[in-house]
Amino acid sequence: MKEKFCPKCGKKTDLLFDGLCEECLSEDANRVDIPRKVEVKVCRICGKKMRNEWKEENIEDTVKKSLEEERGLKKVEVVSDEDGSMEVEASMSVEGVTIEDSETVDVVEKKTVCENCKKASVGYFEAVVQIRFQDERAGEVLDTCRKIINSRSKGKPTVSKIEERKGGLDLYISSNSDAKYIARKLADRYRSERKNSKTLRGLVDGHKSYRSTYLIRILENGK
Ligand SMILES: [Zn+2]
Ligand SMILES: [Zn+2]
Repeated sequence: MKEKFCPKCGKKTDLLFDGLCEECLSEDANRVDIPRKVEVKVCRICGKKMRNEWKEENIEDTVKKSLEEERGLKKVEVVSDEDGSMEVEASMSVEGVTIEDSETVDVVEKKTVCENCKKASVGYFEAVVQIRFQDERAGEVLDTCRKIINSRSKGKPTVSKIEERKGGLDLYISSNSDAKYIARKLADRYRSERKNSKTLRGLVDGHKSYRSTYLIRILENGK
């Protein structure tokens, strides 16, 4: 039998696994493809996580199972979990040789709304943008609002309802940060007075939940 040598350590061996001796291969942790960053979509209303479908599970399980399913990693364990950063151990098998690795993975939670909550929450809103102006400008102001809503770069803001009323428009927005964005853009666009207020809506998961109101009063001739 022709003698073989491991090209890495130089050891004489009969068996090479993917070009290396068993020991060198098992130490080649670079082959275990644990990503540095994992994004998880989380429903901001019910807390479900997206993994092929919306699932009720804790985020460690979501990370663990998606690494197993999408990366072909085995025995994925989350060793510690602090401030969106998880210490993950995993292994994979190359030609029957098990290679282990561990890595710190940044877990980024992308807040969104799942299909069920979207349906259930027609009318759900965190903030109201109240725009007040002279009635004859209604068409033009509504047009500006639509442009602002469409210009939001990361997806369109979730506007649950637009109400036209005497002397103005009320926009019901399901995300407070989107409402803030719209209010700021309107204030950039029109000479106006602004007033923000908050009312306590109740407790959500033990935290106080507020509903914000952004009032923008467009001044007469406030082009
Ligand atoms: Zn070797
Ligand atoms: Zn949900």
